[in-house]
Amino acid sequence: MSAPSRLVLASANPGKLREFRRLLSPLGIDLIGQADLCIAEADEPHATFIENALAKARQASAVTSLPALADDSGICVDALGGAPGVQSARYAGEPKSDARNNARLIADLAGVSDRRAHYYCMLVLLRSRDDPEPILAEGRWHGTIIDTPRGSGGFGYDPHFLDVTTGLTGAELPLDTKNELSHRGQALRALVARLRDEP
Ligand code: IMP
Repeated sequence: MSAPSRLVLASANPGKLREFRRLLSPLGIDLIGQADLCIAEADEPHATFIENALAKARQASAVTSLPALADDSGICVDALGGAPGVQSARYAGEPKSDARNNARLIADLAGVSDRRAHYYCMLVLLRSRDDPEPILAEGRWHGTIIDTPRGSGGFGYDPHFLDVTTGLTGAELPLDTKNELSHRGQALRALVARLRDEP
Protein backbone atom coordinates (compact mmCIF):
# COMPACT_ATOMS: atom_id res chain seq x y z
CA MET A 1 0.00 0.00 0.00
CA SER A 2 1.34 3.45 -0.72
CA ALA A 3 1.14 5.88 2.20
CA PRO A 4 -2.37 7.27 2.63
CA SER A 5 -2.56 11.03 2.14
CA ARG A 6 -5.08 11.52 4.93
CA LEU A 7 -4.97 9.79 8.29
CA VAL A 8 -6.90 10.20 11.49
CA LEU A 9 -4.78 10.15 14.64
CA ALA A 10 -6.60 8.18 17.32
CA SER A 11 -5.57 10.51 20.12
CA ALA A 12 -6.79 13.71 21.71
CA ASN A 13 -3.32 14.45 23.11
CA PRO A 14 -2.17 17.76 21.56
CA GLY A 15 1.48 16.92 22.36
CA LYS A 16 1.33 13.70 20.35
CA LEU A 17 -0.50 15.41 17.49
CA ARG A 18 2.19 18.10 17.31
CA GLU A 19 4.98 15.51 17.20
CA PHE A 20 3.32 13.26 14.62
CA ARG A 21 2.37 16.20 12.38
CA ARG A 22 5.96 17.40 12.33
CA LEU A 23 7.14 13.90 11.40
CA LEU A 24 4.51 13.20 8.74
CA SER A 25 4.17 16.56 6.99
CA PRO A 26 7.37 16.06 4.88
CA LEU A 27 5.68 12.96 3.47
CA GLY A 28 2.64 14.96 2.39
CA ILE A 29 0.41 13.15 4.90
CA ASP A 30 -2.38 15.21 6.37
CA LEU A 31 -2.96 14.10 9.95
CA ILE A 32 -6.33 14.91 11.52
CA GLY A 33 -6.68 14.80 15.29
CA GLN A 34 -9.69 12.82 16.41
CA ALA A 35 -10.79 15.66 18.68
CA ASP A 36 -11.22 17.81 15.53
CA LEU A 37 -13.71 15.19 14.31
CA CYS A 38 -15.48 15.14 17.70
CA ILE A 39 -14.54 11.50 18.30
CA ALA A 40 -14.48 10.47 21.95
CA GLU A 41 -11.35 8.81 23.29
CA ALA A 42 -11.49 5.01 23.17
CA ASP A 43 -11.27 3.01 26.38
CA GLU A 44 -7.84 1.59 27.12
CA PRO A 45 -8.69 -1.39 29.29
CA HIS A 46 -5.91 -3.71 28.19
CA ALA A 47 -2.73 -4.81 29.91
CA THR A 48 -0.51 -4.33 26.88
CA PHE A 49 0.37 -1.33 24.74
CA ILE A 50 -0.37 -3.22 21.53
CA GLU A 51 -3.92 -4.17 22.52
CA ASN A 52 -4.73 -0.61 23.53
CA ALA A 53 -3.23 0.83 20.35
CA LEU A 54 -5.28 -1.54 18.20
CA ALA A 55 -8.48 -0.68 20.10
CA LYS A 56 -7.87 3.04 19.62
CA ALA A 57 -7.07 2.75 15.91
CA ARG A 58 -10.05 0.49 15.26
CA GLN A 59 -12.50 2.88 16.90
CA ALA A 60 -11.15 5.91 15.03
CA SER A 61 -11.25 4.12 11.68
CA ALA A 62 -14.74 2.75 12.35
CA VAL A 63 -16.15 6.18 13.13
CA THR A 64 -14.41 8.09 10.32
CA SER A 65 -14.01 5.43 7.59
CA LEU A 66 -10.46 6.78 7.25
CA PRO A 67 -7.18 4.96 7.74
CA ALA A 68 -6.20 5.43 11.38
CA LEU A 69 -2.93 5.79 13.21
CA ALA A 70 -2.81 5.13 16.94
CA ASP A 71 -0.02 5.03 19.43
CA ASP A 72 -0.19 3.65 22.90
CA SER A 73 2.76 4.83 24.85
CA GLY A 74 4.01 5.30 28.36
CA ILE A 75 6.96 5.45 30.67
CA CYS A 76 8.35 2.30 32.27
CA VAL A 77 10.51 2.74 35.36
CA ASP A 78 12.89 -0.09 36.21
CA ALA A 79 12.73 0.32 39.99
CA LEU A 80 8.91 0.29 39.85
CA GLY A 81 8.76 -3.00 37.93
CA GLY A 82 7.86 -1.20 34.70
CA ALA A 83 5.14 1.04 36.20
CA PRO A 84 3.44 3.34 35.32
CA GLY A 85 3.54 1.50 31.93
CA VAL A 86 0.13 1.29 30.27
CA GLN A 87 -1.27 3.33 33.18
CA SER A 88 1.01 6.30 32.43
CA ALA A 89 -1.75 8.70 31.39
CA ARG A 90 -3.79 7.95 34.52
CA TYR A 91 -1.08 7.06 37.03
CA ALA A 92 -2.52 9.43 39.65
CA GLY A 93 -6.14 8.57 38.79
CA GLU A 94 -8.92 10.44 37.04
CA PRO A 95 -9.14 13.04 35.67
CA LYS A 96 -5.86 12.69 33.76
CA SER A 97 -3.27 15.19 35.00
CA ASP A 98 0.40 15.47 34.02
CA ALA A 99 1.15 17.45 37.18
CA ARG A 100 -0.37 14.84 39.51
CA ASN A 101 1.19 11.96 37.56
CA ASN A 102 4.61 13.54 37.89
CA ALA A 103 4.10 14.21 41.60
CA ARG A 104 3.17 10.57 42.16
CA LEU A 105 6.13 9.31 40.16
CA ILE A 106 8.59 11.41 42.15
CA ALA A 107 6.95 10.36 45.43
CA ASP A 108 7.17 6.69 44.44
CA LEU A 109 10.87 7.09 43.73
CA ALA A 110 11.72 8.88 47.00
CA GLY A 111 14.84 7.28 48.43
CA VAL A 112 15.32 5.08 45.35
CA SER A 113 18.74 5.41 43.73
CA ASP A 114 18.06 3.37 40.57
CA ARG A 115 16.43 5.99 38.32
CA ARG A 116 16.57 4.14 35.00
CA ALA A 117 13.45 4.40 32.83
CA HIS A 118 12.38 4.23 29.23
CA TYR A 119 9.52 5.52 27.20
CA TYR A 120 7.82 2.93 25.01
CA CYS A 121 5.63 3.49 21.97
CA MET A 122 3.56 0.96 20.07
CA LEU A 123 2.26 2.36 16.81
CA VAL A 124 -0.54 0.83 14.76
CA LEU A 125 -1.76 1.81 11.32
CA LEU A 126 -5.09 0.38 10.20
CA ARG A 127 -6.03 0.93 6.57
CA SER A 128 -9.66 0.30 7.52
CA ARG A 129 -11.58 -0.85 10.58
CA ASP A 130 -11.38 -4.49 9.55
CA ASP A 131 -7.83 -4.43 8.21
CA PRO A 132 -6.52 -7.93 9.02
CA GLU A 133 -2.88 -6.90 8.52
CA PRO A 134 -2.26 -3.78 10.58
CA ILE A 135 1.18 -2.24 10.27
CA LEU A 136 2.93 -2.27 13.64
CA ALA A 137 6.07 -0.52 14.81
CA GLU A 138 7.64 0.16 18.19
CA GLY A 139 10.23 2.41 19.74
CA ARG A 140 12.06 2.79 23.06
CA TRP A 141 13.81 5.85 24.49
CA HIS A 142 16.09 5.32 27.48
CA GLY A 143 16.81 7.85 30.19
CA THR A 144 16.67 8.53 33.91
CA ILE A 145 14.15 10.19 36.20
CA ILE A 146 15.18 13.40 37.97
CA ASP A 147 13.38 14.89 40.98
CA THR A 148 13.49 18.53 39.92
CA PRO A 149 11.58 19.29 36.71
CA ARG A 150 13.44 21.06 33.90
CA GLY A 151 12.14 22.70 30.72
CA SER A 152 8.81 23.87 29.40
CA GLY A 153 8.38 21.93 26.14
CA GLY A 154 7.08 18.43 25.54
CA PHE A 155 4.29 17.01 27.70
CA GLY A 156 3.59 14.32 30.26
CA TYR A 157 6.67 13.13 32.14
CA ASP A 158 9.12 15.05 29.94
CA PRO A 159 10.28 17.60 32.57
CA HIS A 160 11.47 14.68 34.75
CA PHE A 161 12.87 12.47 31.95
CA LEU A 162 16.57 13.05 31.36
CA ASP A 163 17.89 11.87 28.01
CA VAL A 164 21.19 10.11 28.63
CA THR A 165 22.84 11.15 25.37
CA THR A 166 22.19 14.92 25.46
CA GLY A 167 21.90 15.53 29.21
CA LEU A 168 18.64 17.40 28.54
CA THR A 169 15.13 16.56 29.67
CA GLY A 170 12.38 15.78 27.17
CA ALA A 171 10.95 19.21 28.02
CA GLU A 172 14.24 20.98 27.26
CA LEU A 173 14.82 19.38 23.87
CA PRO A 174 13.66 21.24 20.74
CA LEU A 175 10.78 19.36 19.11
CA ASP A 176 12.86 18.17 16.15
CA THR A 177 15.56 16.80 18.45
CA LYS A 178 12.98 15.07 20.64
CA ASN A 179 11.50 13.49 17.51
CA GLU A 180 14.95 12.23 16.46
CA LEU A 181 15.49 10.52 19.80
CA SER A 182 12.07 9.60 21.06
CA HIS A 183 10.16 6.35 21.22
CA ARG A 184 7.47 7.90 18.98
CA GLY A 185 9.98 9.16 16.42
CA GLN A 186 11.68 5.76 16.27
CA ALA A 187 8.37 3.95 15.89
CA LEU A 188 7.11 6.30 13.20
CA ARG A 189 10.29 6.04 11.14
CA ALA A 190 10.02 2.24 11.33
CA LEU A 191 6.39 2.40 10.28
CA VAL A 192 7.12 4.70 7.35
CA ALA A 193 9.90 2.34 6.23
CA ARG A 194 7.41 -0.53 6.34
CA LEU A 195 4.94 1.49 4.25
CA ARG A 196 7.66 2.24 1.68
CA ASP A 197 8.50 -1.47 1.41
CA GLU A 198 4.94 -2.42 0.57
CA PRO A 199 4.11 -3.07 -3.07
P1 IMP B 1 -1.78 7.12 26.03
O1 IMP B 1 -2.47 8.30 25.43
O2 IMP B 1 -2.68 6.17 26.72
O3 IMP B 1 -0.87 6.45 25.04
O4 IMP B 1 -0.91 7.71 27.20
C1 IMP B 1 0.40 8.02 27.05
C2 IMP B 1 0.89 8.67 28.33
O5 IMP B 1 2.26 8.28 28.49
C3 IMP B 1 0.88 10.18 28.24
O6 IMP B 1 -0.30 10.73 28.76
C4 IMP B 1 2.10 10.54 29.08
O7 IMP B 1 1.75 10.52 30.43
C5 IMP B 1 3.05 9.39 28.80
N1 IMP B 1 3.89 9.67 27.62
C6 IMP B 1 3.91 9.00 26.44
N2 IMP B 1 4.80 9.56 25.60
C7 IMP B 1 5.33 10.60 26.26
C8 IMP B 1 6.31 11.58 25.89
O8 IMP B 1 6.86 11.64 24.79
N3 IMP B 1 6.59 12.48 26.85
C9 IMP B 1 6.03 12.47 28.08
N4 IMP B 1 5.10 11.60 28.46
C10 IMP B 1 4.76 10.67 27.55
